[in-house]
Amino acid sequence: MKPLILDGTVVANHVKESLKSRIEDLKNQDITPCLATVLVGDDSSSETYVRMKGNACQAIGMESRRIHLSEETTTEELLKVIQDLNNDDDVHGILLQHPVPHQIDERAAFEAISIEKDVDGVTSLGFGQTAFGFGSYPSCTPAAILKIIDYYEIDVEGKHAVVVGRSPILGKPVSMMLLNRNATVTTCHSYTENLQDILSNADIIVAAVGKPNFIKGDWVKEGAVILDAGYNKGNIGDVEYDSCFEKASAITPVPGGVGPVTISMLLKQTVDSAEKRI
Ligand code: NAP
Repeated sequence: MKPLILDGTVVANHVKESLKSRIEDLKNQDITPCLATVLVGDDSSSETYVRMKGNACQAIGMESRRIHLSEETTTEELLKVIQDLNNDDDVHGILLQHPVPHQIDERAAFEAISIEKDVDGVTSLGFGQTAFGFGSYPSCTPAAILKIIDYYEIDVEGKHAVVVGRSPILGKPVSMMLLNRNATVTTCHSYTENLQDILSNADIIVAAVGKPNFIKGDWVKEGAVILDAGYNKGNIGDVEYDSCFEKASAITPVPGGVGPVTISMLLKQTVDSAEKRI
């Protein structure tokens, strides 16, 4: 049987539609939800990502404040910009685009974002709260993966979820979130032995590796649910789509899977933050 296609565009539109009336209500109270994006340097992919996020804000009536700093920016200068945004009552969410140039202490810059405005879930406090299960703003890609699971009513409880990748913005938080939903979670990484054996026992697979077409269909159990967060050059996911399609009961495409939902979760979390100002 053909798998269910977990259509991220449908889910993202559903999320954005639900935000429209909330944004109107805020505007009636003279509050326009505002996401500040901070881009440091001239990386063209990062410029594209930031532009997409800003455009997505404007498309649903939110405000986007775009700050673009030079490649030579120092940690101190960046921290000052973030501090000013923390103190600006008109800004409800702050997104510092990763990666920043090498001379900058990126962790210090992320940590400088106040928890109230950490709508991208990058601070260690935000991560800790997500791990405990009471955080307001999880990292957006893990939040998107859980949103897709909820939208399509995928059963998580008691299932064996295998997450391939353990980055602080993706693999680790999504592992925690699945654990909080009572999945039995295995988190794999570049030192994992017998990855294929582990994957062959997975009911749910989250691919967060950053390697194109990495997970092959013959590593996957018949009927597995496959969520591919990967986004590699040429719009290629971390999952070999055609061979995994043959085995999965449900699968996200790339593009059009996790990516669009991630942006919609960023918008949602910024609106959540703006509502807390009332
Ligand atoms: P990352 O920081 O590079 O982390 C990659 C993870 O994969 C690491 O934990 C690494 O293990 C693990 N890994 C590498 N090779 C492996 C192997 N052979 N076997 C098992 N694990 C292996 O990447 P990321 O930022 O988490 O991003 C992962 C992917 O998601 C990328 O394709 C990225 O473009 C995409 N992404 C998509 C969105 C979206 O909105 N759709 C957002 C963010 C990222 P170690 O820890 O041992 O090095």
